[in-house]
Amino acid sequence: MILLINPPLVKPSEPPPGLARLYGTLGAHGIGCEVIDANIEGVLHLLGKGSLERDSWTMRAVRNRARNLELIRESRSRLNRDRYKRAVSDLNRLLGKSAAGQARLTLSNYQDPGLSPVRSADLLRAAEKYESNPFHDYFSQRISRAIELKSPGVVGISLNFLSQALTAFSMMGFIKAHYPGMRVVLGGGLVTSWVRGPDWRRPFDGLADSVVSGPGERALLGLAGVEWSGERPYSYAPFHWGHYLSPGRILPYSASSGCWWNRCAFCPEKAEGTRYDPASPKEAVREVRRLCSTHRPDLIHFVDSAMSPALLSRLSENPPGAPWYGFVRMTRRLAEEEFCRALKASGCVMLKLGVESGAQSVLDAEGKGMELGLASKILHTLKKCGIGTYVHLLFGSPSESEAEARKTLDFTVRHASCIDFLNLAVFNMPVNSVEAKSLGTSPHYEGDLSLYTGFRHPKGWDRLKVRRFLESEFKKRPAIAEILSREPPLFTSNHAPFFVS
Ligand code: SF4
Repeated sequence: MILLINPPLVKPSEPPPGLARLYGTLGAHGIGCEVIDANIEGVLHLLGKGSLERDSWTMRAVRNRARNLELIRESRSRLNRDRYKRAVSDLNRLLGKSAAGQARLTLSNYQDPGLSPVRSADLLRAAEKYESNPFHDYFSQRISRAIELKSPGVVGISLNFLSQALTAFSMMGFIKAHYPGMRVVLGGGLVTSWVRGPDWRRPFDGLADSVVSGPGERALLGLAGVEWSGERPYSYAPFHWGHYLSPGRILPYSASSGCWWNRCAFCPEKAEGTRYDPASPKEAVREVRRLCSTHRPDLIHFVDSAMSPALLSRLSENPPGAPWYGFVRMTRRLAEEEFCRALKASGCVMLKLGVESGAQSVLDAEGKGMELGLASKILHTLKKCGIGTYVHLLFGSPSESEAEARKTLDFTVRHASCIDFLNLAVFNMPVNSVEAKSLGTSPHYEGDLSLYTGFRHPKGWDRLKVRRFLESEFKKRPAIAEILSREPPLFTSNHAPFFVS
């Protein structure tokens, strides 16, 4: 028996797809498995605990907790943007206050003022002082109950985001203190990135019995003495759909790992050398249809780094059975009205698009492989076909100067009528990228586990100047401010498809 845990805190909007796949795969190989989504359970526990603070906002948030949980889970047809925003804001207030004095919590992040998740010494400290973690009351009881009832031989901790790291280590510290003979396996996307980084020195050897890089199926089956057959089916059986904070059931699914393009200079996937490993589109769509007929989701979230053109084609001909969205590269077919109408008919409600820059020179230098003329045509075509657009822009890359950033501003304003949502990111230099090697670098996050490094910008367009430009100019343009005001607070793109008009 293997116990798998998804630690807090990530946006509690949907079940974790990695654990759904591990659970399904272990089950298909005859290995008993128990899953705890400690993220949603932990968040609900803290929300239920309330707060001792007596200011009027917190008291309102406590008073309206049950109603706000209902409002945020209201079905799409009854969703009201203002009520939704107020509910999110109040629940966020309550969560933050429930952990006051221990950590800074929001519905999408966990920060500890004294400990950094990119410093291995701090993570080991979080493991030692596990009782100070705000989720300790919850996880100590929950994990003990699961271990005592199910007697697992292995506990697997799935760590995918920095915001989970400190609590993941607190949980490991608790398990080792109370069940010293228990085998603890640490894996997940973030752990994979750490292990593949240039400075990995195995700092957790005394705490984790195994640290797994890449998909965990083979390693976990190996611990059970079973050979992996190559089958990796999903199963969402252990998850409680009604718990998640979303206006409908969201079923996440990944049809690939890595990226089929894999050429963007700024991309961490490329810098880490992640291999592209897709499922066949036919198999992927068949599996999504199977999952839809079992779970009846309101939305499918394709979590691939970039959905492949073959998968999009397959979906356009074989609707998966529920509305869907995902991240795509801007390829020629997306400029074809007929194709986009077929995508829309298959349930596509929104596409996330990496436009990144409005300057062709930047796109070329960063290896985006995209013409701005095509991007423009795609945005207009998607709008015409009724598919929402969530556009990602990136500022401060080494090939950008202020002049190019202004071109991005102009491009965005010109296409504002075709953009439903905007994500603005400031460039981070992946620590092991080719560009990092050619520019003068310096520690950025000051941690041995940091995936990014500081660098001397060759055009003097540093992060401070970029941020100033974004705040004082870019976000102030009325057409852009209007787009930004539509963004679902905290849940951002995870809830945006519910708000596409
Ligand atoms: S398309 Fe996205 S995931 Fe693929 S290489 Fe470019 S940035 Fe990376």
